[in-house]
Formats: sequence, structure tokens, C-alpha cells
Amino acid sequence: MAAPAPSTLLSSVVRTARLRRWAAALLLCPALAFGEDTLATRLDDAGAKARSVPDQALRELRAMAGEVATAPPALRADFLYFSSTAERTAGDVPRALALADELVAFGERQGDDVALVKGLLERANAQWMLGKVPASHATSLQAERVARRIADVAVKVQSAISAGQAYQEQGNYPAGLARLQGAVDLARQIEGDTAPLGNSLYALVWLYLNMGQLDKAAEAQRESLLLARAAESPARIAVALGTEYALAIEQKAFRRARRALLEALGLERSIGARQMTATTLVYLSDSYLKERKFQEARTYGAQALQAAIDVNSVSDIATARVNLGQAYLGLGLLAEGKRHVDAGLATYEKQGDKPELQAVLLEYGGALEHAGDYRGAIGAYHRERDIAREMFADERRAAVLELQEKYDAERTQRQIEALRRDNRAAGAELEHRRLQQRIWWLLAGACALAAATVALMYRKVRQANARLAERNVELKRQGSLDPLTGLYNRRHFQAFMAAGQEGGGRRATDGDTVGALFLLDVDHFKHVNDTFGHAAGDEVLKLIAAGLREALRETDMIVRWGGEEFLVFLPAVARAGLDDVARRILYGISSRTVAYQGAVIPVNVSVGFAPYPLMAGTTPLAWERVVNLADMALYLAKSNGRNRAVGVRGFPGLDRTTVEAVEADLEHAWHAGFVDLAVVPGGAPGEARPEGRTD
Ligand code: GH3
Ligand code: MG
Ligand code: MG
Repeated sequence: MAAPAPSTLLSSVVRTARLRRWAAALLLCPALAFGEDTLATRLDDAGAKARSVPDQALRELRAMAGEVATAPPALRADFLYFSSTAERTAGDVPRALALADELVAFGERQGDDVALVKGLLERANAQWMLGKVPASHATSLQAERVARRIADVAVKVQSAISAGQAYQEQGNYPAGLARLQGAVDLARQIEGDTAPLGNSLYALVWLYLNMGQLDKAAEAQRESLLLARAAESPARIAVALGTEYALAIEQKAFRRARRALLEALGLERSIGARQMTATTLVYLSDSYLKERKFQEARTYGAQALQAAIDVNSVSDIATARVNLGQAYLGLGLLAEGKRHVDAGLATYEKQGDKPELQAVLLEYGGALEHAGDYRGAIGAYHRERDIAREMFADERRAAVLELQEKYDAERTQRQIEALRRDNRAAGAELEHRRLQQRIWWLLAGACALAAATVALMYRKVRQANARLAERNVELKRQGSLDPLTGLYNRRHFQAFMAAGQEGGGRRATDGDTVGALFLLDVDHFKHVNDTFGHAAGDEVLKLIAAGLREALRETDMIVRWGGEEFLVFLPAVARAGLDDVARRILYGISSRTVAYQGAVIPVNVSVGFAPYPLMAGTTPLAWERVVNLADMALYLAKSNGRNRAVGVRGFPGLDRTTVEAVEADLEHAWHAGFVDLAVVPGGAPGEARPEGRTD
């Protein structure tokens, strides 16, 4: 798309929104089969064509349907898998989803976990293409869980990729990176077939690009392209050239980017891969728009539109129309341009693709303004701001909002200035300023500026998000993990909190949702060491780590605080749910026992906890003081019989005492009614957690 105001947001949106579709098209593709003409080889042969020449694959698959009906279960499963893939690639996504559901049911019925995983992966891909993104992510993670039970390495790799992409799209880059690096490592073990490794590297390149780690992206890309070329597979080379393009764009190497696309186009055409051809044409038009070469953009935009219509690809049709429309606008053909852009936007709107819609509207406004259609431009900016507001309201943006509060005004100002500098470098500053003046004039100034600032801040917060994730990864590399349990260590947590405190901000609370800190200490741990030995003690610590991981969410931070003490930080939890989390922790640990050299060791912990931020009147306490209070509550839990949790809820009597006095003697403050404490008892060894209690 044209870029009158180039921004990193735009390119990252383009990336995640549509290039991911190439990623979604990646699948477990058998190598082209040679040799005997058995049903199995013919099936593999058709499967190998499913993602590049789906129409042909479908014809061959349909011809086999009769034979497959009486074939062994494994072949029937593959038949469903390949058919679903081919239908999806050919554009009939609902049909692909129905086939994936059939495969899932088949896997469950047969107790065949490999078939089940394949079905789930296909389901996730189809859901994603239907715009059901959260459902698709959930399905990917479900596939990953089932894949833990199977031995088929290629399928395991694919499930790790799918999970990694899901985390990536949720903005959880550390979790995404862990999955994708795992996929690469696993794929290297496969001998004789480099396709799984190629797929893993492909996904890894995207992740690095999204994280802004261009060096790492380039390294993975080099290997990915080499592998594809060594395999002499036109389809695989074309796919790898897709990431080559994106990388080159990020590196501002426009000629190399264009070369990659033209080579991909030639390969796709040579094998008749029409879906892939349509997508590549869309990118070609896009690349010319980026350079404001509107004639070429129009030529390729028109070709892209025709190709997308031929394969009935709704998303490509929409994007091709947006690109084509912007090319017309660039050429001064206003009516023609608006017609195409509006048609494309209508599809994005229907698909609920808000980030894409927002990015396009910004460009659209710029292009209309450039073409002298100020009313149209204002209309586009209005819509853009509405969408920005909607996106803010989205639950999925809650995390971004949280981050946003961490950045004080000065920082934001610096970022805005940095963005301005970027814009100037790209020659867009002037346009931008002119545009802003008009909006001021037309929309009575202040209101518009506020909205524009919100949009800018949102953009920067996204970048800050990526940087934060990067920093997380960096910290992890610096040895922020405890070697025994694999949990974060104290240093990491302190660095994390220090980063969170930077700029004076604190985590957002809306009253009902708060953060929370839990401190745990193993009960009678010396006794375990003395009776069973230090090694048994270590096993107990590992078991507690596993129990906590299971009892808590992926987003919660679990820390080995000291020898046999653990700290858990929940970034967001219902205030009314703190006791229940404490209960989950108590039972999550006490329901397990350690079997050690024939002996059974029961394990309990005592817990102290507090919400974070914890308010003393209207002042939030520093996190260190909250941890200290949780520690005192933990001591109370110990002295009141262990195997229980004590939580600080608040300070109701601050008119008669001070927080310092409460901190000096928590037990006394409790009896005097100066502090409100919750007491949550644990269960007997091995007892499961009682359901539905909320006391
Ligand atoms: P309490 O219920 O009061 O907590 O009793 P306790 O026996 O657990 O007492 P305390 O918390 O003071 O005990 C800490 C013990 O944990 C002492 C130390 O030897 C042991 N410990 C600390 N770190 C490790 C470790 O990494 N491995 C093992 N096996 N033991 C550890
Ligand atoms: Mg201790
Ligand atoms: Mg202890």
C-alpha cells in the first residue's frame, strides 16, 4: 500500500495481517513421492501439491475417495488432512474447516493422537483465515498440548510452530521465541527431510522481524533460503523468498525486495501455484506503492486483483483493491481510486481486521488529501480515529494500556519527536504538518490533536511492547533463570519490577482487577533434607515449581525467591479472586507427593500474599514494602499452623495508626483491627482442591 506517512507500524501491520497467510499455508508436506503406484504414494503425491497447486491436488484426491474409504486408518487420516489443506488453499475455507473437524473427530474416535494434532492444526489455520483469531490461537495451543504425547517429530515441529505463531500474534514474544527455537532444534533431528526445518526457520524469521531483530532475522533467513534452494523445490523457494522480501523491506533494500518478489512470481507461475501468485502480485503492487511509482503499482495491482478473483481469495481481493485504488489516487484518478479503496475497506471491516483497517485509513486519508479531496480525507481520519478508539476498548488491548501508563509524558514526548524525525527522514514531515493544520482548523483543534496523540501513543506503545519483549529475552540470556527449577530468579524479578517502575508509573488497576504478589515457604523443609537427604529436597523444590506452573497462568511470573522460598507475581487478577489463587497454590502443591527412593514425601507450603499495588490510603506502597508485608503474612501463616495462606487486604484503621506501625507488628495490628487479613486454609496431603468456594 502507498505510504505517504511511512511508519514502522504500517509495515508490521502488513506483515502480521497478511504475510502470515503464507505461514498458515505451511504444513506437513510430504516430499513428492516416486516409485510404486500404491495408494499411499499417490496420496503423498497429491498431498505434496496441496499448498502450491491445490486444484490439481483436489482433483487427484477426489479420484482416490472410493479407495480411501476402505484403506487403513492412517491413510484415511492423511486423506482428510490433505483435502482440508487443499480446500483451504484453493479458497473454500468453510469446507476446509469442516474437513478439519472431521479429522479431529476421527483422531479422537481412533485414539490416534497424530491424526488429532493434524486435525487441530488444520482447524487453527482455517479459523485464522476465517478471522476467528482468538479461537485459532486456542486451537494451536491445544494442538501443542496433544503433541506432547506423540512421537512423530515432524508433527511435533509443526505444532510448536503453530503455537509459536499464536503467542507471537498475542504479542507474547518470549513464549513465541521459545516455541520456534524449540521447533528449529527439533527439526534439525529429522534426517532426510529438510521441509520441517525450513518451515521452522520461516516462522522464526517472521518473529525476529516483528521483534525488530534484523540481524537474527537475516541469519535465519539465509539458512532458510539455502535449504529451500538445496531442496530444489520451487514452492519452497518461493515461500522463502516471501520472507526475503519482508526482510529486505525492513532493511530498506528495495531493489533486493523487488528481486525476491519477481523470482518468487516466476517460480509460482512455473508450477501453476495460483494462490501464491495472487499474493505475490499483491506484494509487488505494494512495493511499488512504497516507492510512489504509481504506474507500476497500478499495473501489478490490476494483475493482483484479477489473480485474486481467479482463486476466490477474499483477503487478497480486498488488499489488491486497496492497492489498486491507492495507485489510482496517486495518479490523480480520484473517483476510480475511491471506488477500489472503499470496496477493499468494506471487506476489512467485515473481517473485523481493525489494525489493518486503521493503517489503511491513515494512508487513505493521506492519499485523498494529497489528491485535493479534503472532505474525503477528513472522513477517512474520522473513521481512523473511531477505529483507534474501538481498538483501545478492546479487551485484547488491555495489556497495551497497562504499558502505556508506564510511560510518562516526557518519554512520550521524546518518542513523538523521534517519530517526527523518522517522518522527516522519509520526506513526509511536511505533508504531515500541513495535514495536521487542516485538521486543526476543520475540527476545532484540540479534539483532533488529542485523538492524533492517542494514535501516535498507541503506535509507540506497540513498539515499546516489542522492545520490552526484546529486553525480556536479553535478560533471560543473561542468566535470569534458576538452574534447578527453571523458574526466574530473584535478580530477574527485581529487574522486571525496576523496569515496570521506570517513569513513575504503576500497574493499572480499575478497582476490580489488580496485580498480586504471593510469597511461599516450604513447611518443615529442613525435616525433608534431614530425613531423606539434600537430593530429595531438590526434588521437592522441582515438584513445587511444576505445581506452580500448572496452577498458574502462562502470563504469571513464578520466581525462585531464595533457597526454599518462591514468589509469584500475577499481573492481573480479579481482586475478589486472590483467596482462590492462594487456594489453588496450596492445593496445587499439597495434592502432589514426591516419590523418592521408595519413600513418599508429602509437601506443604505456607503463603503470604497481597494485592499490588497495595494502597495506604491514597498512596500505593513500593513493591518492596508489599513483598515485605507478604513476608510478614507468611510468618503469620507459619505461626498459625502452616499449610495455609494469609493475605493482606487493606488498612481499614489508618485514621488511628500508620502503615509503619502495621509493618512493625502485623499480628498486633490484625488483632487491633488496623489491617484486614484473609486466612485461607490448605488441605490434607493428596486432597484435591474443593470446587466453587469463594470465601
Ligand atoms: P518452616 O516450616 O518454618 O519453614 O521450617 P523449615 O524447616 O522449612 O525452616 P526453614 O525455612 O528455615 O528451612 C530452610 C531450609 O531449606 C534450610 C536449608 O538447608 C534448606 N534449603 C535451602 N535451599 C535449599 C536447596 O536448594 N536444596 C535443598 N535440598 N535444601 C535447601
Ligand atoms: Mg525458609
Ligand atoms: Mg521452610
